Amino acid sequence: MFRIITTEELLKELEKYKFKQLHTHHTWKPTHRNFDGKNHIKLQESMRNHHVNVKKWSDIGQHITLMPDGTWVTGRPFDITPASISGWNTGALAVEMLGNFDKIGELPFNDLGYDELEGKQKESMLMLMNWFGEKFGYDNIKFHRDNPSAGKSCPGTSLNKVTLINEAKAIKKESEVVSDKKDLIKINLHGKDIEVEGILKDQTYHVPIRFLERLGYEVGWQDGKVTINYKGEDK
Ligand SMILES: [Zn+2]
Repeated sequence: MFRIITTEELLKELEKYKFKQLHTHHTWKPTHRNFDGKNHIKLQESMRNHHVNVKKWSDIGQHITLMPDGTWVTGRPFDITPASISGWNTGALAVEMLGNFDKIGELPFNDLGYDELEGKQKESMLMLMNWFGEKFGYDNIKFHRDNPSAGKSCPGTSLNKVTLINEAKAIKKESEVVSDKKDLIKINLHGKDIEVEGILKDQTYHVPIRFLERLGYEVGWQDGKVTINYKGEDK
C-alpha cells in the first residue's frame, strides 16, 4: 500500500489538497546507513510498525518519507490529520526526511552518527518547500523544533531553517525560466500593427491578454473571469 514516487508525482498529487503548515522532521532512526537503495518500503513499514505497535497510533505518523535517493514513500493518506507536532497537526502536511541530521557530539545522538542533508534528498526537499512556500506561504513551513513544547532538535541541529528556506525560494519555476527568453511577437489586429512581448511554448505564442488595451479594449478581472470590453477608443 505504500508507494515510491518522484517529487514531480508528489507535487501533482498534492495539488488537490489545502495545507496550513508543512512539518519537517528527520527520522533520526533509521539513518542513511539503514538505506540500501532498495528497501524504501521495508523502512516505511518498520516505521509504521513502530508507530502503531509501540506508540499506539492509528497509522504511521507522517504523510510522506523522503529517502536519501530523493524519492518519496507515501504514508498516512494526505487528507487524514498526521501525528506530527502536537497542537499543530490539523491541516498539516507531515514530512519525515530519512536520516539523522543532528551534529556529531550533540546530545541526544544515536550510535550511527549523523547524516548530511545533501544531493538528491536535499534537492527534493527544497522543491517541496518551494512548492509549499509559493502556495501556502514560507512562514507556514515549520521545523518540529519550532514548537516550543516539542523539546526536540528535530529535524536536526545541522539544518539551518533560514538557509534552507532561502535556498527553496531561489528555485526558479519552469514558467519563470521560460519567460526569461521573451520574444517580440508582431500582431496585426483591426488593421493595426503592434508588437507584444510573449513567449513561444509548445509551438504556440503566449502573450499577456493586457496587450488588447493597446487596441482600445478594456481588460479586467472579475469573479475569476477575464472581462474584455471594447471602448472604441480609436473611432
Ligand atoms: Zn520531529
